[in-house]
Amino acid sequence: MTMAEIREIRKIEREKASIHSHITGLGLDEKGKAKFKADGLVGQVEAREAAGIVVQLIKQGKMAGKGVLFVGPPGTGKTALAVAIAKELGEDTPFTTMNASEIYSTELKKTEILTQAIRKSIGVRIKQRRTVYEGVVKDIKLKVARSRLNPYSVMPREAQIVLATKDEEKTFTVGDSIAEQLVQLNVRKGDVIWIDAQTGEVSKIGKAKSFEGAKSYDIETVRQVEIPSGPIKKDKETTITVTLHDLDLNVAARNISITALFSFFSEREINSEIRESVDKWVKDIISKGEGELVPGVLFIDDAHMLDIEAFSFLTKALEADLAPILILATNRGITKIRGTDVESPHGMPLDLLDRLLIIPTRPYNADEIREILKIRADEIDVHLEDKALETLTKLGVEFSLRYAVQLLEPSFIIAQRNGRNIIKEEDVIEASKLFTDFRRSVEYVKEYEKLLLK
Ligand code: ATP
Repeated sequence: MTMAEIREIRKIEREKASIHSHITGLGLDEKGKAKFKADGLVGQVEAREAAGIVVQLIKQGKMAGKGVLFVGPPGTGKTALAVAIAKELGEDTPFTTMNASEIYSTELKKTEILTQAIRKSIGVRIKQRRTVYEGVVKDIKLKVARSRLNPYSVMPREAQIVLATKDEEKTFTVGDSIAEQLVQLNVRKGDVIWIDAQTGEVSKIGKAKSFEGAKSYDIETVRQVEIPSGPIKKDKETTITVTLHDLDLNVAARNISITALFSFFSEREINSEIRESVDKWVKDIISKGEGELVPGVLFIDDAHMLDIEAFSFLTKALEADLAPILILATNRGITKIRGTDVESPHGMPLDLLDRLLIIPTRPYNADEIREILKIRADEIDVHLEDKALETLTKLGVEFSLRYAVQLLEPSFIIAQRNGRNIIKEEDVIEASKLFTDFRRSVEYVKEYEKLLLK
């Protein structure tokens, strides 16, 4: 496997700006106490402190054979906390999230789906030398074209970007693939970035500390870095992280013919020889000192939806030499273990429960919801008037945090249509009339059925 190929698969797997992108850690002080708002997290103090202890146990190698179970109502930040644990373990810690119901596929065996999830959650850090252009983005201009196939999608065609270090300034005109990465990574003025001189791969390093003309950010959620000094083009020893699953896919795709490729992508079952050859390659680079393993986090939501077969597979996987940190989440109490007639706490077998550290999460209050909304608004770059924030907060309390967070973007579109760049209360009210939350949509269907029956 060559470095270029590894970079290629990494490009594909690059993390997209997700709903949890504002979270950079657990926001704890040196004593492990949670600050009300730090590292993008708000409130949920006890659960965060418990998660902090889990992180310490992981770092001390004391979580082998054990896992974590978050128990709490939907929308209480269970996924957010799992993301924060992964971030605390290191920037490049792989994080895989899945819903337990994903194991019920008509095409793949449950154990194959779980094996893939496990291998997506184990990283390999590979050392390499590369030549990069590194600097702070002083200016950026994008040329976009409308897609002919889909007129609603615009494609970046070209970008002009001015990179600067303390000592040099250079303007680049780059083609569509780099321009597209700049869009995907949401690169803005004041960001410090790298462009790989050979492959054109772009990496965002962070936000320059005090950079004139850059937008102000919530400093707690954005990594602040020094503006680099020296020339823009430099040689760097860097590390990249790929997952075992990335490597499996890469080898699998190379080993098969074009016709077989189609069935491969529809079935995606990876045979054991491929996995063995990947493991051998990984062991080899580790023994040469060119790489190391990075156990990541596998998060399974609605874990009560797993069945007895999946539970025993996961229990065994916890004991393997090479295991990710398993974090399960559920909102169920006593319920049947799927595939059996046995009732059990959280629908899980007792031998698995015995290995889990259980952390409860509780519903958010208005102050917490307000702060989370502020962070999300900042993250996606939308501005709210105070009254609009209050109305959204109320909706969050009455319905759910997720609903309130999801209304941010539609409210912003409504504001823009009204010729504003700031969301007013009336925009939020309009958005909440257009988009309902699931409790109201269920009520609506019920009412409608009654009318039809009359
Ligand atoms: P769960 O997994 O318990 O259902 P979740 O973590 O998926 O909850 P959502 O209800 O989807 O949380 O949360 C909506 C948004 O609020 C997401 O962007 C999430 O990252 C964020 N969020 C949730 N809890 C917190 C928190 N304590 N601090 C900051 N952001 C949070």
